[in-house]
Amino acid sequence: MSDAKRKIFIVEDQRIVAADLENTLRSLGYTVSGTAASGERAIEKVLALRPDLVLMDIRLEGPMDGIQAAERIRAVLDIPIVYLTAYADEETIVRAKTTSPFGYLVKPFNERELRGAIEIALYKHETDLLLHARLVMLAEEEARRRASEEAEKRFRLLVESVKDYAIFMLDPDGRVASWNAGATRIMGYEQSAILGTHVSAFYTEGDVELGAPEEALAASRRDGHFLGEGFLVRKDGSHFRAELRLSAVHDENGELRGFATVMRDLTEQKRAEEIQVFLDETTLLLTSSLETEGTLQKAAERAIPLLGDLCFVDIANEQGALVVCAAANKSGHEELTMELSRSIGRREGADYTFRCGGKVLHEEIESLPCMARVLGTSPELLRSLGPISYICVPIELRGRRLGVVELVRRAARGRYTPADLAVAQELGRRFGIALDNARLYREAQEAIRARDEFFMIASHELRTPLTPLQLQLEALERTLKRAGLLNDQLTGRVERCSRQIFRLTRLVESLLDVTRITAGQLVIEPETVDLCVLARDVTERFTTEASETGSKIELRSCTSIVGRWDPMRLDQVLTNLLENAVKYGCGRPIEVMIAEDGDAVRISVVDHGMGIEPEACARIFERFERAVSLKHYGGLGLGLFIARQIVEAHGGTIEAKSQPGEGSTFTVRLPRWGVALRSEVA
Ligand code: ADP
Repeated sequence: MSDAKRKIFIVEDQRIVAADLENTLRSLGYTVSGTAASGERAIEKVLALRPDLVLMDIRLEGPMDGIQAAERIRAVLDIPIVYLTAYADEETIVRAKTTSPFGYLVKPFNERELRGAIEIALYKHETDLLLHARLVMLAEEEARRRASEEAEKRFRLLVESVKDYAIFMLDPDGRVASWNAGATRIMGYEQSAILGTHVSAFYTEGDVELGAPEEALAASRRDGHFLGEGFLVRKDGSHFRAELRLSAVHDENGELRGFATVMRDLTEQKRAEEIQVFLDETTLLLTSSLETEGTLQKAAERAIPLLGDLCFVDIANEQGALVVCAAANKSGHEELTMELSRSIGRREGADYTFRCGGKVLHEEIESLPCMARVLGTSPELLRSLGPISYICVPIELRGRRLGVVELVRRAARGRYTPADLAVAQELGRRFGIALDNARLYREAQEAIRARDEFFMIASHELRTPLTPLQLQLEALERTLKRAGLLNDQLTGRVERCSRQIFRLTRLVESLLDVTRITAGQLVIEPETVDLCVLARDVTERFTTEASETGSKIELRSCTSIVGRWDPMRLDQVLTNLLENAVKYGCGRPIEVMIAEDGDAVRISVVDHGMGIEPEACARIFERFERAVSLKHYGGLGLGLFIARQIVEAHGGTIEAKSQPGEGSTFTVRLPRWGVALRSEVA
């Protein structure tokens, strides 16, 4: 920047001095950007004009002197200020110093002194600025360095403290360059022993032969990263499933510095997944069948080798003694398994768990006599097994102990841990549910069988007196008639009695039919039948009953439709439908329609009564199902069930369509000829 462009601002209250100074400055090649006579004015103008330098007279007119004005200006603007004064007392100099002036000219001064003071001030200011900028830069650099050192330290501590992951660096050749605590825990090597070793030391022989380590390094060199899952080898030679992630690390020049490696031991995760799958599959297996012995055996077999070398499921028999209900073993232990199945009564572990409900976890039993006591057999037999790990847990449900599960594993294959015990307990719980379900099912079956037997006996017993009763009633009617005593009133009574006997007979028949159907003994005897004739008979039978409720039954346009059906059973279907139409028809008209429908016939019974909720339309065809309260309408809930069984036995269908309050339509479709009839219905 040339001097000519330097803008100087003059603060001077003596106008003549100011004008003189202005001239001098111009002659020296400076630009005078402005002048001010008072401190206040000077502040205002300097802040607005932003000159390169201010020449400031200390003594000024007005309340503010030059030093105060300079203070205010420099508080806002970093601008060099050179003081001008006629004389300098000590106090003024001290005050002026606190404003860090860039120069001090004592009047009178000559051009050379003025120029020198200005140039030095400008130079000093520029140097200050540069110095300051440099200092700021250095300070920032220092702060960054500290931050990155701090971050690195924190990162190192973090990496070192991680135990679940092996985190280490490989150099560009794939040799270990750093090692954390997690790596030691997972791989078994101490840092000092492993540094410098090639990563292929962690691979299985087979993988090394296939070039897997080199491939992983090459992939991360090429793509920046590599992610793989497979078996790695620990220091002790054992294999484990691991996930390996390599990321290539480059320096600022793009040169490869190595590979950041993160390795995770997947053994636990895989085992947890396997156990979950095992438990889920076991549940599925147990719920798929109520034949417990077979399913428990299959479940025990699936527990091998995941949960052990031997697995026994011991269930209490009716005398309360444990018997082996399922036994499974890893191959090679067949004889031992058989022997242990025989020795169940002598087993300390199983006995304790079954009697007290306590779970047993022996992490490792080395002594043969101790092993023999726990497993209830001779030490000789167990010698071949070596030290064992043993678990025994109860099978119980709702406080009832049903048996125990025993697991045995050779300690060399890994000792049982509390986590294994928890899995065994879960297995025991699921076995308990399965056994309980099977028991409940057996009991329910037994109860149903007892009920059906009772129905059968009760209905036979109830039916036996009904026929003689009807005969007696008819004989009574004849006697009265012969004696000339039968008037209209008595005839009506006899008829009502007769109807009640018929009703009772039908109820008892219904019960008998249900037991027949349940036992698969519903017999259909088809013969050639005219459905219209049959329908007319049934409808006529209901005329009196219907008129008592106010309903009228109309059989629509039906002359003759012939087919092969069981007439007694079809009569029963129609009777049941009409009985319901009268009962639930609210005294409104009832229509019976019979029509040909291709190779089939369609029978519809329509009423305009109370109707049925749509959700109940399918359900009412099930045994004992009803859609009305027993308080208002009596009934056994069997009529439609029996009707459906008969219709289906004829190869037909039956359905209900209804809306509450709008009546119901029951439609039966029956094949006319061709369908091979089932003589028995399950
Ligand atoms: P029950 O009449 O002895 O109860 P059903 O098996 O004949 O037994 O009928 C089952 C249920 O279906 C009845 O309880 C009733 O709720 C309903 N239902 C049957 N027919 C009709 C109908 N025509 N109108 C209204 N509801 C009916």
